[in-house]
Amino acid sequence: MSNGMRTHYCGDLRSADVGSEVSVCGWVSRRREHGEHLAFVDLRDHTGVVQCVVDGAADLRSEYVVRITGTVRPRPEGTVNPALATGEVEVGDCQVEVLSVAEPPPFPLDDRAADVDETVRLRHRYLDLRRTEMQRNLRSRAALLSAVRRAMDGQGFVEVETPMLIASTPEGARDFVVPSRTRPGTFYALPQSPQLFKQLCMVGGVDRYFQVARCMRDEDLRADRQFEFTQLDMEMSFAGQEDVLTAVTVAVAAAVEAVTGQPVGEIPRLTWHEAMDRFGSDKPDVRFGMELVDVTEVFAATEFNAFKAPCIKAVRHAGGSEGTGRNRLDDLTDRAKRWGAKGLVWMRVEQGEGGVSLNSPVAKFLSDGEQSALVAATGAQVGDLLYLVADDWRRTCHVLGLLRLELGRPPVDEGGLQFLWVVDFPLFEDVDEATGRPVPAHHPFTMPNAEDAPLLDGGPEDLLRMRSQAYDLVLNGWELGSGSVRIHRGDLQQKVFDLLGISAEEAHAKFGFLLDAFRYGAPPHAGFAFGVDRLVALLVGEEKSSLLLHHILNSHLDQIS
Ligand code: ASP
Repeated sequence: MSNGMRTHYCGDLRSADVGSEVSVCGWVSRRREHGEHLAFVDLRDHTGVVQCVVDGAADLRSEYVVRITGTVRPRPEGTVNPALATGEVEVGDCQVEVLSVAEPPPFPLDDRAADVDETVRLRHRYLDLRRTEMQRNLRSRAALLSAVRRAMDGQGFVEVETPMLIASTPEGARDFVVPSRTRPGTFYALPQSPQLFKQLCMVGGVDRYFQVARCMRDEDLRADRQFEFTQLDMEMSFAGQEDVLTAVTVAVAAAVEAVTGQPVGEIPRLTWHEAMDRFGSDKPDVRFGMELVDVTEVFAATEFNAFKAPCIKAVRHAGGSEGTGRNRLDDLTDRAKRWGAKGLVWMRVEQGEGGVSLNSPVAKFLSDGEQSALVAATGAQVGDLLYLVADDWRRTCHVLGLLRLELGRPPVDEGGLQFLWVVDFPLFEDVDEATGRPVPAHHPFTMPNAEDAPLLDGGPEDLLRMRSQAYDLVLNGWELGSGSVRIHRGDLQQKVFDLLGISAEEAHAKFGFLLDAFRYGAPPHAGFAFGVDRLVALLVGEEKSSLLLHHILNSHLDQIS
């Protein structure tokens, strides 16, 4: 391999190179004067930094692009820097060739950059990229993609590129559109996902498809959500949920190993119902406990009006009482209300005369029996804080799930990688009050759970109880991806469209080419897609996938807050 203008990369020099004449190229990271003429110049490339001792370096400023030729020598006693991979050596007798001059950068490109405002970093993405950490992220992403491709290839999946200028896709977000030049007034949509195309591939006998697919969704920007993102998208024929879960696990394990070197063991599973019931979330962060405890029974005969509700649950914050003042409790109560609760009941667990006692504005409304049953059910200890919500099951779980995260969620780089499959999602998320129509939880091609299929003919209650063959992959409380077994029979699909209120014309206009294709023999099929940037972000311990750099020079990133 040619090394171009250099013999070595900056970050590669070691004691074993002492005595060699080398040429290194890169950017001046720092310059420190050493006596009248000599200067220490830290030279940086994508591999790291090496110290060069330069005579007459007056003209070398930060971020100048230079080639330095010199001899590797040990650093003098006492100046070895163990924090640096090249810290035992330096390059001496240097000849410097300035290849480009540079204006002073708008922010420092060393460790101090972490404190720089994100929008400044994004505006000067090309400078941010020079930083070691960003180079690591970029390369981790590339290593991950290459490992995933190998893993999919190894399992017999074929990489297929699907079109970018298309008719609308049904992922539920808004399409980005591109005006057509040849037919003024009409528009192409950019794909929100290759969903329909991969299903067409199945009808076309591709059997196992995958794609590193760019998806475009016109949604509000959030830290974990951008206009365009990349998914590892896959679909397989004559296969069901178990086959997809296995294939995705192999790909994800390869991805994790490529970035962290760590194996991924078996990925545990929870049903959607259990996830909601225990963690109050369909993407539970299982790095920490604080599970929701059902205490409905404890208050079955209560006199306390606020607890006359179908579902009462508690979260126990172990040892939380001391560090939680009244202001914080008021703030948490406000939040619980914003999240949809009627209120939030808190109770400090204290040492009373005859044992544990509860200190709370509502304690006087609760009988002694209720109080001791609550303590027993939650395992509360002196010094704990208990939080309770009483509402219907969904809302109680939802609010306490958010509260649990607020109280206990570890930082992004703590607690290891806790993958989780969430299975048996409901088929419908809600019934629209205005139209009386159910709203699909995934997309309209999702296969109902076989046992629950008869409920399709029932009323709203039945529909909301229906499970689907849809599943999510969750990592540390983030939804990494989702997928489902698809409906491959026209009659069943028609029934679901009817229920959703999608008319024959609308179905034809939106997904006519898929429905037509299904008339000619569709194999049973199932698939999945997971977000590449989200996974990389979590693996490298970044809080936000926007700080990875898939969109190197993209102005819309300025808008992310
Ligand atoms: N197309 C779906 C998505 O983008 C994934 C799938 O069902 O395969 O979330």
